[in-house]
Amino acid sequence: MTYDRLVCANCAAPVSEGRCPVCRANRERLQQESPLSGLNPMALIALVAVLVAAVALLAHQTV
Ligand SMILES: [Zn+2]
Repeated sequence: MTYDRLVCANCAAPVSEGRCPVCRANRERLQQESPLSGLNPMALIALVAVLVAAVALLAHQTV
């Protein structure tokens, strides 16, 4: 989703124009979004924990 067509709820102008603080805040927030930012840090930590547990389990089973 791009912010090009987003209309600000505060000033009713396109957010991309940054006419009010709400626009600018939204624009900055949206511009900072990258494919990686879609990953929740907590989800990433949980994923790592699951991987570590799986490796530990496998190591335990092979011994
Ligand atoms: Zn605005």
